[in-house]
Amino acid sequence: MAGSGNFMGEWKLREEMCEVGRRVYNKGFAAANDGNISYRLSEDRVLCTPTRVSKGFMKPDDLCIVDLDGGQVSGKRKRSSEILLHLTIMKHRPDVKSVVHCHPPHATAFAVAQEPIPKCTMPEFEVFLGEVAITPYETPGGQAFADTVIPYIKDTDTILLANHGTVTAGSDLMDAYFKTEIIDAYCRILLLTKPLGGPKYYNDHKAAELIRLKPGIGVRDVRLELGLENCDLCGNSLFREGYHESFRPEPNAFVPDKLQQAVQQVACAMPASAPASKGEGPEFESMVQAITEQVMRALGGAAAPSSNGSGSYAGSC
Ligand SMILES: [Zn+2]
Repeated sequence: MAGSGNFMGEWKLREEMCEVGRRVYNKGFAAANDGNISYRLSEDRVLCTPTRVSKGFMKPDDLCIVDLDGGQVSGKRKRSSEILLHLTIMKHRPDVKSVVHCHPPHATAFAVAQEPIPKCTMPEFEVFLGEVAITPYETPGGQAFADTVIPYIKDTDTILLANHGTVTAGSDLMDAYFKTEIIDAYCRILLLTKPLGGPKYYNDHKAAELIRLKPGIGVRDVRLELGLENCDLCGNSLFREGYHESFRPEPNAFVPDKLQQAVQQVACAMPASAPASKGEGPEFESMVQAITEQVMRALGGAAAPSSNGSGSYAGSC
């Protein structure tokens, strides 16, 4: 078996990948033949799932081995076309051993709606995942699609692929898979709060307490490196400044408390004669601009769009 000097070790990894595939399929995270899973065997060898095989019914010898550019090295079946996404993540994150991509329905609903994942609602989510990014939409399969994760992957293991699904990265197969379970369970709970009036949020101070616990359990959080006091912990995404200027997901269904309060303050301060109901004309335009500026100021000045989409988000943190 090419790609590993340790036959038994590799066989165990193949069995574990099939087990992760069964979980992905049985949880409803990948319909039919959807989804793909990978594991880095060595510097230039990656074990991955084949194309057009249900993740629920894979056998260890169905799996393929590719090099880091996606060239197939071994396996009787053709490797997944989405392997380039996995390899791009591995190239940019030497610590990542495994990647799971699928379409878990609740998290994918947020990806399809391009709704930023709200924060400051559940401690477990804060501790085990933290900030989640959304990539701009791209046609799946090619390098352009894979490259959409580059601005974000250095600072998060969990990414929503706009109008598509999720991709999670980890130190082993189960670690990568569990992040998919967590983001979908979290999104499911959020959606379940909607008929109950939506989530209630705790504050930045409580969020900071949770984030400080993370090093103790071996979970990195880039906000600790940037300085918690400078970060918008319960408001806009850390990645807001990293989104391309033509792609800036805004909260619609789950608006953070801070933003709601800021909008309320501005609305209260508006003169009763303001032509808000007309919704047109230069007077209305300048009022909208003024409200936007005031809201963004209240949120700590995250309004200026990123000029190059390079992933720099220093302005928001
Ligand atoms: Zn997909």
